Amino acid sequence: MRHLLIAGNWKMNKDVYETQHFAKALKDYADKYATPKVEIVIAPVYPFLSSAQQILKDSPVRLAAQDVSAHEDGAFTGEVSATMLASLHLPYCIVGHSERRQYHQETDDLVNAKLIKLLKVGINPIFCLGERLEQREANETYQVLDTQLKGGLEDINLVTGVEIVIAYEPVWAIGTGKVATPQQAQEAQAYIRNWLEQNYSTKVAERLLILYGGSVKPDNITELLSQPDIDGALIGGASLKIEHYTAMLETAGQVRKDK
Ligand code: PEP
Repeated sequence: MRHLLIAGNWKMNKDVYETQHFAKALKDYADKYATPKVEIVIAPVYPFLSSAQQILKDSPVRLAAQDVSAHEDGAFTGEVSATMLASLHLPYCIVGHSERRQYHQETDDLVNAKLIKLLKVGINPIFCLGERLEQREANETYQVLDTQLKGGLEDINLVTGVEIVIAYEPVWAIGTGKVATPQQAQEAQAYIRNWLEQNYSTKVAERLLILYGGSVKPDNITELLSQPDIDGALIGGASLKIEHYTAMLETAGQVRKDK
């Protein structure tokens, strides 16, 4: 049975003090909410990962970076390599977020190169994908998912036990307040699971976590997490307030008990 992963993507928010303050507060709640069935992850900005890590070192809260370079090392100003992230022993790194695809022109090939770099150093990627509004309206959602899955996972053999987390994030629902209905999210995520089954194996499809992301909040998370193919959430805006984030962790615990 898959567990639930509740990941907070802080994007470019919180300075060092705010990061430390949140990490301390979350640490106080973490023992209550983190269970074998609910995994807690937060993704602060690069420069404050170490600081958050120090605070959370004896806690079950796990950390993710928000991106990684596709390069190994050298003259790539502003970039951070997978090896550098691995030297921090980070368990997770977000890759292919729609904001990277949209504002930094990241292609499926680039996302694929980043996934490969992370897997080589033992960091589990949280691989984001999803359609834009015009693609959904043109009934191209599944075609887009096919292309992003195929391109992003090229040359990655998931059958060998490689762990990646997939995050289905319809672009039209990110930061817009427009959440996909639980049925829309479930349909797309069932499609992704079926794609994994067709292209890898039933075991892979049953093992991999598929998160939903896009305007998840305390008041809509219950129904989303109750869907059979939604194994957690990647949460932007609503992960920035400790009371909202912990409310969602509590919900995850309740849903997981009943699921
Ligand atoms: C995200 O950043 O991945 C995200 C889903 O953002 P939001 O929850 O704010 O829509």
